[in-house]
Amino acid sequence: GEAIADLVVPRAVPDDERLWVPQAEGVWFRPLCLSASAGYWMNLLRVRRAGVLSRHRHSQPVHGYVLKGRWRYLEHDWVATEGSYVFEPPGDTHTLVVPDDVEEMITYCQVNGVMYYVDPRGKGIGFEDVFTKIDMCRRHFVASGLGAAYVDRFVR
Ligand code: FE
Repeated sequence: GEAIADLVVPRAVPDDERLWVPQAEGVWFRPLCLSASAGYWMNLLRVRRAGVLSRHRHSQPVHGYVLKGRWRYLEHDWVATEGSYVFEPPGDTHTLVVPDDVEEMITYCQVNGVMYYVDPRGKGIGFEDVFTKIDMCRRHFVASGLGAAYVDRFVR
């Protein structure tokens, strides 16, 4: 057929710590599907740090499922608790906060398009898309001894 290759990731929540790609102090992501062809990424976000993590805006929808812990956005009155599904609409700017009593948060996310990071005044300070995620994975897999090609198994 003409379909691109399917993808199965055993132990999506990995035993091997090297599969967690460091993103910031106390923040990691675990790649599952890095869709270069459709411009989105599926990953687990793991946070072991309380307080404000980032302020950002999405160009496309985000879908999330909280596997562990809980988090919220300063701009909204809901809390994403363990077991919750979350939809984030395109165009929403929000500030991610993990409460003080949460030692570890893990959320499964589909992030489409571009994530723009902004400062408290809304000024852009950086962005992420599936291509920056692929680059981060590749650098980390080289540094951790898995090799540059290790990321390729997640790319579609
Ligand atoms: Fe968001």
